[in-house]
Amino acid sequence: MGIVVQKYGGTSVASVERIRRVAERVAALHSRGKPCVVTVSAMGKTTDQLIELARQVSSRPPAREMDMLLTTGEQVSIALLAMALAERGVRVRSLTGWQAGIITDAIHGKARIQGIDTRMIRGCLDRGEVVIVAGFQGKTPEGEITTLGRGGSDTTAVALAAALEAEVCEIFTDVTGVFTADPRVVPRAGKMEEISFEEMLELAHLGAGVLHPRSVECAMKYRVPLVVRSSFVEEPGTWVKEAKDMETTRNVRGIAHDMHVARIKVLGLENRIETLSRLFGILGDAHINVDMIVQSEHDAERIDVAFSVSEDEGEMAKEVIEAHREELGYLKVLYETGLAKVSAVGAGMVSRPGVAAKMFATLTDAGIRIKMVSTSEIKISCVIPRDRAVEAVRELHSAFGLDVAGAEMVGATTTKVRE
Ligand code: ASP
Ligand code: MG
Repeated sequence: MGIVVQKYGGTSVASVERIRRVAERVAALHSRGKPCVVTVSAMGKTTDQLIELARQVSSRPPAREMDMLLTTGEQVSIALLAMALAERGVRVRSLTGWQAGIITDAIHGKARIQGIDTRMIRGCLDRGEVVIVAGFQGKTPEGEITTLGRGGSDTTAVALAAALEAEVCEIFTDVTGVFTADPRVVPRAGKMEEISFEEMLELAHLGAGVLHPRSVECAMKYRVPLVVRSSFVEEPGTWVKEAKDMETTRNVRGIAHDMHVARIKVLGLENRIETLSRLFGILGDAHINVDMIVQSEHDAERIDVAFSVSEDEGEMAKEVIEAHREELGYLKVLYETGLAKVSAVGAGMVSRPGVAAKMFATLTDAGIRIKMVSTSEIKISCVIPRDRAVEAVRELHSAFGLDVAGAEMVGATTTKVRE
């Protein structure tokens, strides 16, 4: 019988009461004879609290020790969920990421899964046990403990589903599916019944927090049937699937936003043939993810390069560039925070001209300054001042005809945006 992999996020296991509810759900599935593997995140805001603790003892905690600390969060929730299931008479075993055979590379804080040795899990399933696996963690071949980056439990679940050739990977969360925009920001956002892997990957990369980007990459690569649904209400959720199985009638399917963008400008770089490769090579060696890049002429001998990064990597990017000043040969480096990125995403936009024009016109009409732009076949992104981002997302959502009439109340319990 096909294996079912389920993942429950932090809010779904935020309290003992909620853990009991998850246990009920899993017990019901198990009683229907389904082999189940369940991945859980740390309870509620545990990971944030652990990061805060680390900050109190160290201004720059070693990445290895950070992983040692953060992995404890998931260990609490797997043990409690296993106890709650055992209490119901269900045969169950909780496993840490390393016990479950999840092998990663050695980049602490954002390790990538290299492979999963599923023997331990399969052994448990063969004995009829429910297997609970700690999300977001693994170990290197040398035995060091690693984490997969914030939100990484989704990736644990999808990778397990791929390795076990599961019939489905269900991501249970606090929203009912994937929306055309963050419903906390756009009350008129609507839930999508389905979305292609490509579109979901863009949305995830662009800051739609509902799925960890690497989980979508992994699902796409291994063709894992993936569904995002609510652990609180019984609703069908959103299926993420191959584009060829879908009918897309809209050019723009969703508006994403990322509130944490920083921009770095490196002015007056000597214009040598290897300049760009050196600059971005240095950033790559420091494991900094560069997003948009704009190059322009400074004068006859020099160029300016501006690029955007996630705000939490901004300071570090600046420091790395400053540390290589001699070698890079530039005049000045400028650092700007307080920015956001808004993006329109849709596989259908390749074949329809005018999407970019409409996006720029919408922002311009609202008096919002566009600081950087990037495009791909299925998305257009603009970096804008953060204090205008909420307005921008709402305007774009209406302009592209995505507003759902009478949907004011959908998920609109809070309009606060994480700052
Ligand atoms: N607990 C981790 C985090 O908060 C992993 C996850 O929730 O997916 O980022
Ligand atoms: Mg998440």
